[in-house]
Amino acid sequence: MDKHEVTMEKIVSLCKRRGFVFQSSEIYGGQSGAWDYGPLGIELKKNIQNAWWKEMTQLHDNIVGLDAAILMHPRVWEASGHVANFSDPLVDCKQCKMRYRADNMDQDALAAKKCPACGGELTEPRAFNLMFKTHIGPAEDTASVIYLRPETAQGIYVNYKNIIQSNRMKIPFGIAQVGKAFRNEIVTKNFIFRTCEFEQMEMQFFVKPGDDDKFFEYWREQRWNFYKKHGVNMDKMRWYHHEKLAHYAKDAYDIEYEFPMGFSELEGIHNRTDFDLSRHTEYSGKDMQYIDQDNGNEKYIPYIIETSAGLTRNLLMFLCDAYAEEKVADKGNDDDYRTVLHFHPKIAPVTVAILPLMKKDGLAELAKEIQNELKDDFVTDYDQSGAIGKRYRRQDEIGTPFCVTVDYDSKNDKTVTLRFRDSMEQVRVPIAELSNRIRQEIKNYTRTF
Ligand code: ATP
Repeated sequence: MDKHEVTMEKIVSLCKRRGFVFQSSEIYGGQSGAWDYGPLGIELKKNIQNAWWKEMTQLHDNIVGLDAAILMHPRVWEASGHVANFSDPLVDCKQCKMRYRADNMDQDALAAKKCPACGGELTEPRAFNLMFKTHIGPAEDTASVIYLRPETAQGIYVNYKNIIQSNRMKIPFGIAQVGKAFRNEIVTKNFIFRTCEFEQMEMQFFVKPGDDDKFFEYWREQRWNFYKKHGVNMDKMRWYHHEKLAHYAKDAYDIEYEFPMGFSELEGIHNRTDFDLSRHTEYSGKDMQYIDQDNGNEKYIPYIIETSAGLTRNLLMFLCDAYAEEKVADKGNDDDYRTVLHFHPKIAPVTVAILPLMKKDGLAELAKEIQNELKDDFVTDYDQSGAIGKRYRRQDEIGTPFCVTVDYDSKNDKTVTLRFRDSMEQVRVPIAELSNRIRQEIKNYTRTF
């Protein structure tokens, strides 16, 4: 393997070093399945979420948002099938106590009932429900059982009638939601790829039965184009068509990304049919039919096309996809290479860094003035310490697309150097035009590979 290739170890180390992602409760030895997002991580996460939210709600007239509670009535999870079906097959090694998901492990080892780690005997697979179960209120009895939601989708289904009534939505229409979900995953590995606490970005699109295939194709195309638009290397994306379908699905595709550990699911696009709304009709006793007032009050239970993406998994994807170690000099040492994150400027945690060439002679003051001008429009960073080359490298490493360097000429001619992360080109720009110029550069940005 080329030593400059992206690996998960490099991503984990960069994330910790620069404040993207930390291990949860690290001082106590860490809590597996949970991670904390540092100053740059939260900016990155918010940018991905905002890009998705804009794409769904602002750019689609017929999609509205929702923020439902994590705690829902326990009957919801009976209706959805999660209480009965949401399980993974678990096997344990009797000797070394390693735990595996039977469907994800070496199938020869499973058939031989031998632990791949130590060769010890494996237990029979048993179904393990992934929902976190707890109690609400003071009594810890069966009547007080409550679950942490394992997906955000159900919050949308149980509110779909409220939204039709309050917002006069007409089919076809969608409801978008971003929020936390919890799964008691048997194996959490690969950093933030699979965790017990994570965030989802889900959109449920309600259509007339019979129109579902058409909208399924439409949403597949839309979701593919979203990633393309946000600068992802599409050579690393592919479709996976499910042959074995979940109990609720008529058709399902995953968008897979080639992470350092190989191609893995990033987002699912599912035709969930009328399964969920029919089940909620059955379990709640409430009529979940849509009344088509434009069509002689025709009644039907809508079909649902779901686009379900992991926000935290997207963050990992954007990091892996942006990461590069590039040769920028030829001195024969490690300084020849820069580590750079080629984020789309709309995704990058910091948009502009302002760097005075020197602290003295009024350059720092001028740089601060410029930062104050720009900070209303962009997330900015200010750095006055160290050689300018080193400071560019520090910004490259966190993916800052634009650096503004303030030098002695700036004081006289009111211009600054604008440096572009990807090409490392530098141009002279009047201070007065800086904000517009950066806005224009963001709009016209295309990533070159
Ligand atoms: P898997 O089969 O890998 O467990 P899934 O097919 O059950 O996942 P979905 O229920 O379709 O996943 O969830 C939709 C999206 O939510 C996934 O594409 C993924 O991006 C994200 N997601 C699901 N589980 C996790 C998790 N444990 N950690 C992080 N993200 C997750």
